[in-house]
Amino acid sequence: MTTAHIGLIGLGTMGASLALNIAEKGFDIAVWNRTTSVTQGFKAQAGDLFPRIVATETLADLVAAIEKPRAIILMVPAGPAVDQQIEALRPLLDPDDLIIDAGNANFHDTNRRAEEAKVKGPRFLGMGVSGGEEGARHGPSIMGGGEKADWDRVAPVLEAISAKYQGIPCATWMGQGGAGHFVKAVHNGIEYADMQMIAEIYGVMRDGMAMKAAEIGAVFDQWNAGPLQSYLIEISAAVSKATDGARPMLDVILDKAGQKGTGRWTVIEAQNLAAPIPVIEAAVMARNVSARLDERREGEAMFGAAPQPLAKDALSIAALEQAMIAGKILCYAQGFALIVAASHEFGWDLPLPAIARVWREGCIIRSTMLNDMATALEQHPERGLMLAPFFADHLRAAVPGLRATVATGVANGLALPALSAGLAWFDMMRTGRSTANMIQAQRDFFGAHGFERLDLPGTGLHGPWGGHM
Ligand code: NDP
Repeated sequence: MTTAHIGLIGLGTMGASLALNIAEKGFDIAVWNRTTSVTQGFKAQAGDLFPRIVATETLADLVAAIEKPRAIILMVPAGPAVDQQIEALRPLLDPDDLIIDAGNANFHDTNRRAEEAKVKGPRFLGMGVSGGEEGARHGPSIMGGGEKADWDRVAPVLEAISAKYQGIPCATWMGQGGAGHFVKAVHNGIEYADMQMIAEIYGVMRDGMAMKAAEIGAVFDQWNAGPLQSYLIEISAAVSKATDGARPMLDVILDKAGQKGTGRWTVIEAQNLAAPIPVIEAAVMARNVSARLDERREGEAMFGAAPQPLAKDALSIAALEQAMIAGKILCYAQGFALIVAASHEFGWDLPLPAIARVWREGCIIRSTMLNDMATALEQHPERGLMLAPFFADHLRAAVPGLRATVATGVANGLALPALSAGLAWFDMMRTGRSTANMIQAQRDFFGAHGFERLDLPGTGLHGPWGGHM
């Protein structure tokens, strides 16, 4: 029986929600899951959407249930599971059928799979999906990569199920091969950084200003009505105000952050591309440090607790808000610069304003500021966010608050790695005469690497230290 418009494999958290979303938007969908009892459970929870779902128990039945040329979404863990599913599907599919990997694949794997698909078939798209379970069910942000013609074939479904920003679908084709998964990885890196900066400001309020969790929640609520409006500020307010009996929920949660590795991939790629993303690097580092709980406790016992209470009026809530605004702009400036570097390296021509636009709704980093970023990137694509006039004005206003926050943090043992990294990068990026002349002199001294001079032409010049090694 050939009835379904599209197929989906993997009825876990994301796959089940995505399948229901697809059915709800009026597309018949055939589904298959490795564990059949999960498929049966899924059918039972489909409710009114049941008639639009073809639940199958074998891969052959799944394939037979989808109209040709077929499109099948994979929503299984990134890595070997994706390769296994592709291998299992290949003999069952026609060359012009399409497999769409919608998990969090490493974009290098997606590049490889796209190349393999050209030789062995069927066709292949790599697609980053953001928004968690809720987003998958009611409207995620979707970043696609692969052949544009393949994207166009499934775009009507993807645009229908995606989040909408003022009616505009948050589903965009980014470029060839792994472009979609690369943009998703940068999204996740920025997500790590946004979360870390919020956690740092939470720490200043909790440890420096002795504020209760509910008071901190009220501050986040207030900020969510201003330039910092975003999903992450909104949920930070919610978690700060939540209670466990009489106690704030936050106060009983172990301070050890988990991660699935997408932030690390972003940092590794940035290093490979020599693209500085210090705020994201600091955020990944901070998660790793958080995991070393025993060592941190030993350190505290040996050296004394780092955070000290701030003197009254040492920092205002307004300064903290400015610090967050500046930190956020600087972090996104770095993230978009990384995208530019990757675009050049991999020949992608990644659409910067469209990326900002696709992140405005549905995904975890959605925020009001992303709309302004889309406009700035459209008006001044060559300048980057730090130098774009709109954000340059914001930085002029907000950096004093960031500087006051970082300086006060340093003076009082409040570690603010991401905010400090943002400020240091900003200061470096507005220093016309840096200290790299010292590095060049050192390199020439020990390795005869040569340097250029400000006052004379030529490269590979040397200092008067020959033979002093
Ligand atoms: P779950 O663990 O909830 O579900 C995994 C699904 O994959 C299950 O249906 C499971 O089947 C199936 N599966 C696991 N291993 C294999 C295999 N070797 N062969 C075939 N099927 C397999 O994961 P999620 O839904 O959370 O995540 C799916 C993908 O989406 C991942 O790549 C994840 O990184 C990505 N993602 C997740 C987000 C989230 O918020 N959870 C957000 C964005 C992306 P079975 O029932 O048999 O175990």
